[in-house]
Amino acid sequence: MSDITKKSLTEIVNLIKKKEVKSEEVTLSFIKNIDKDKKLNSFITKCSDQALIRAKTFDKKPNLEKLIPGIPIAVKDLFCTQGVKTTAGSKMLENFTPNYESTITENLWNEGAFLLGKLNCDEYAMGSSNETSYYGNVINPVAENTVPGGSSGGSASALAADLTPTTIGTDTGGSIRQPASFTGTVGLKPTYGLCSRWGIVAFASSLDQAGPMTKTVQDSALMLEAMASFDVKDSTSINKKKENYSKKLTDNIKGLKIGIPKEYRVEGMPREIDQLWENGKKILKESGAEIVDISLPNTKYALPAYYIVAPAEASSNLARYDGVKYGFRSSNGNNLIEMYENTRSEGFGDEVKRRILIGTYVLSSGYYDAYYIKAQKVRQLIKNDFDKSFKNVDAILTPSTPSSAFKIGEKKNDPISMYLNDIFTVPVNLAGLPAISIPAGKDNNNYPLGLQFIGKALDEQKLLNIAYAVENKINFKQNLNKWWER
Ligand code: GLN
Repeated sequence: MSDITKKSLTEIVNLIKKKEVKSEEVTLSFIKNIDKDKKLNSFITKCSDQALIRAKTFDKKPNLEKLIPGIPIAVKDLFCTQGVKTTAGSKMLENFTPNYESTITENLWNEGAFLLGKLNCDEYAMGSSNETSYYGNVINPVAENTVPGGSSGGSASALAADLTPTTIGTDTGGSIRQPASFTGTVGLKPTYGLCSRWGIVAFASSLDQAGPMTKTVQDSALMLEAMASFDVKDSTSINKKKENYSKKLTDNIKGLKIGIPKEYRVEGMPREIDQLWENGKKILKESGAEIVDISLPNTKYALPAYYIVAPAEASSNLARYDGVKYGFRSSNGNNLIEMYENTRSEGFGDEVKRRILIGTYVLSSGYYDAYYIKAQKVRQLIKNDFDKSFKNVDAILTPSTPSSAFKIGEKKNDPISMYLNDIFTVPVNLAGLPAISIPAGKDNNNYPLGLQFIGKALDEQKLLNIAYAVENKINFKQNLNKWWER
């Protein structure tokens, strides 16, 4: 059989269901790739032995009725996995082994999958390049000196390099879609509340949302089906019946109206991205969709509002890491206060500290109204813009990112230019909407570029259908030469 690790998740599932391949063979093939990789640094923890045992057990009594039977999956190291170290990319959680399982991973295991490993990410998911991880940079398989994006950088890198058949990430401001765009993969951020946050290390709770990262749109549909569930353990979980996204997937998008927001044409955007966007419009028209110009006037305030709301919530969420309950504790200090201080200054990296400082500042009395409350108001205006547009259109098309993958170190010491990466992804989180990034072309360096579709709340099916139709026509091919094995 041709290399199984190059196949889509859906193809592998079908082979297992038809009994043409065993879970053990699939798992071994991915483990071989993981072992051959010398450079990417996408894994923090490898679970090869455990995965093989699970595969063999599955093969003895395969339950082929499940959605993803016998599939090994490596996940972002932000999802708590029972008995397996969960670090969130931080020194603070270097020795943290949860005694419970996140709802999302539990759902995947209930559908027949099992854990292949834990993937590197920016520390507490704060970053756009995977350079803030305590466990080192992750490399983009696209080119040796480039970042994979972030914060789900390990997920994107491992997926693009065929080290896992599919993966999951979290997206607070773009952390699924931006790395997907940088690595030529598909990334879906679902509607806020569709996938449970329970057991995911919290960054900014009103924005955090888990979602699939896959090689194809069809795979994302399948994964979302497996992940999404109502969960009483997450108070913001939406009580809604399960959907069969993959079965209902169709590329018939005739008559749908797609909005093009003029505010997403930002100054200094590379020509290639403009062309990519134009090409997306052309393909949509050819598929029978109608293109409509729209305006989202408050877009320019999204990034500043995000960089107030997200750090504010982070500073509150991260207050729990005090060296007492769990996680790292400094051995320096002569009293309790010094122990707290040293634990937090030794346990957190620079970017996390920056966010805690900003967050604490904008929440402090005297500044709360001027920053935090104002940002919340802006957030509402951004949502209103989308609500208004969605009265006339079914979905919105934008580029996923303002550039392709950048070089390691290029933006690390310039937080503003790093934050600007999120300019097209952040508004979606502020409004709680679903959005998907699909690989749609390449730039002059042959680096992938992504297109983003934004949908109405809980309209994932239509969003997937549109992405599927465009994906079929674009027929994006990656062709990486596995330089990381040398
Ligand atoms: N890059 C953004 C940030 O640093 C988004 C992160 C995310 O979505 N987790 O906050």
